[in-house]
Amino acid sequence: MEKPKRKKVATPPKLQTGVKAAARRPARPPRNPYSAAEIREIFRRFSVQRPKPVGELEHVNAFTLVVAVALSAQATDAGVNKATRALFAVADTPAKMLDLGEERVREFIKTIGLYRNKAKNVIALSRKLVEEFGGEVPRSHADLVSLPGVGRKTANVVMSMAFGVPTLAVDTHVLRIGNRLRIAPGKKPDDVETAFLRIIPEDYLFHAHHWLILHGRYCCKARKPECERCVIADLCRSLEKTCDRPAPLVELPSQVSDS
Ligand code: SF4
Repeated sequence: MEKPKRKKVATPPKLQTGVKAAARRPARPPRNPYSAAEIREIFRRFSVQRPKPVGELEHVNAFTLVVAVALSAQATDAGVNKATRALFAVADTPAKMLDLGEERVREFIKTIGLYRNKAKNVIALSRKLVEEFGGEVPRSHADLVSLPGVGRKTANVVMSMAFGVPTLAVDTHVLRIGNRLRIAPGKKPDDVETAFLRIIPEDYLFHAHHWLILHGRYCCKARKPECERCVIADLCRSLEKTCDRPAPLVELPSQVSDS
């Protein structure tokens, strides 16, 4: 008589140990040198300095904000404002922008870097808004980044400034501060965004983007941080800082134009 065949029993996967297992584990974010109380104190001081920070890019509605932010890549806000004042006076909706046409848009913005490509994108995004979104700026992040010339940073700025959704757009200043202070380190803007979102107290999140930009633009400057003028000099753990004494905490203008 034939022997009954033994059923094969699936063996559980072997537990991985040692170097191999460690290699597969998702990398842990580096330990943040700031305590939660210190982080809260940093943002509290920023909030005293600028209780209601405002974006410096001029716009008259959500559409012109999208255009202004898209144009601001590798350009100063002041330079963009100079060009868009006249542009938005004649075209403040996607339909009007389409009517204006690429060539005339190019004329308006020719003082801004990369203007040829940017003019192309302004027309392409206006067309998409008219054809697919009924001429309205969409409120979802996924829809926003589907627009030509609109990346993650632009979408975050628009969500925050036009629709009041707390987000953290990472520009060159925010990226530098995250790394220089070792408060939200990361090589790519997305990593710094994630790291900041993990630590910023919820009640400070809405204005955090502007506070960090203004702090980076006017105090913790790229080439040489002005630590003697810094209100968080005592808390800062940057290896580049030159002073430990915090500057007096006084209210500053919420919006200062750059040059
Ligand atoms: S102390 Fe200096 S390095 Fe630190 S945040 Fe202030 S300006 Fe930047």
